Amino acid sequence: MTKQNFYELNFNQLKNFLVEKIGIESARAKMRAEQLFSGIYKKGLTNFSDLSTVTKDLRKELDKHLSLDLPKIVKKITAEDSTIKWLLELNDENKNLIEVVLIPSKSSHYTVCVSVQVGCAMSKNSACIHCATGTQALVKNLSANEMVMQIMIAKRYLNDFGDQRLLKNIVLMGSGESLTNFSQVQQFIKVLEESTGLAFGKKSITLSTIGIPDKIKEFTDSVATYLALSLHSADNEKRDKIIPINKKYPLKEVIESCKYYTNKVGEKVFIEYTLMAGINDSSEDARQLIKVMSQFPSKLNLIFMNTWPGCDIKPVSEEKTNQFAKIVKDAGFIVTVRRSGGRSEKSLCGCGQLRTTSVPINKN
Ligand code: SF4
Repeated sequence: MTKQNFYELNFNQLKNFLVEKIGIESARAKMRAEQLFSGIYKKGLTNFSDLSTVTKDLRKELDKHLSLDLPKIVKKITAEDSTIKWLLELNDENKNLIEVVLIPSKSSHYTVCVSVQVGCAMSKNSACIHCATGTQALVKNLSANEMVMQIMIAKRYLNDFGDQRLLKNIVLMGSGESLTNFSQVQQFIKVLEESTGLAFGKKSITLSTIGIPDKIKEFTDSVATYLALSLHSADNEKRDKIIPINKKYPLKEVIESCKYYTNKVGEKVFIEYTLMAGINDSSEDARQLIKVMSQFPSKLNLIFMNTWPGCDIKPVSEEKTNQFAKIVKDAGFIVTVRRSGGRSEKSLCGCGQLRTTSVPINKN
């Protein structure tokens, strides 16, 4: 019998599963689901036999029907600044590999950077030029449970259970484009938000996208967590070259969808802008950026270019980065200059540096 993956289910789905597959009375299903969510997500239990709040018989039934297995950790890299990157082998048929990154902050809290695809849907002719993941063909969309499991790997490593709350933020900025795997991302966020389980609030979760206008609107109407837009150029023609999918979804439409988000959700959009030497780092680029940012509430994350083997784009000097930042700041915007944790070519844990060796399997 194939077991149902526990991490796939939101609270209501678990309740229904307990009734339909395990035969728990409807009147008791809510209480049982609470015991399970609390035991696994809040107390960090790793198997049903430790679930002392339910009878021994029920523990056996749960074990028969539900799987709590996590992916195998194949490799762990700890960078100079304590950022950790795990290479995980999924429990899928082809044992695909993904990476997940745990980033410490100064305030002793942590952020997990989650992957949503093996490879990226934007690979081939649509790959963003600065990103290593774009060189890996799309192998598959991750399921919601494969995303939740990345969180559980990090939580178990930190022993982040009970009263402490070390893991504060989740960013969907690892491998893959979130909005091209949106139904699974929606389900993932639903599980993250369940108050009896992981209990992450909307302001703890940031979804990053290169900008797919219709999907940004759908995201606004449903998920509505923080939104980060990977802009990288405010000039439409230049953006076509950096993010080729811009030819299909031009900047004008992306801006309209950001306005929709800010009007409806009332939060600023985080503009992600990786500075690439000689490509998008001039004063004129900064002025164009101001024009775009003036159209909806936004703040700027200016990101150092993280290089990777085979990449010939050069990062911008500290001085030039500060000059660029000053132009935007002087126009009244909040600007944060970000150096990704663990971005050396030895660690490759930073923004745009994730990539695994999994390849699509041709079944013909
Ligand atoms: S930046 Fe995002 S969308 Fe672009 S290639 Fe990298 S992972 Fe894919």
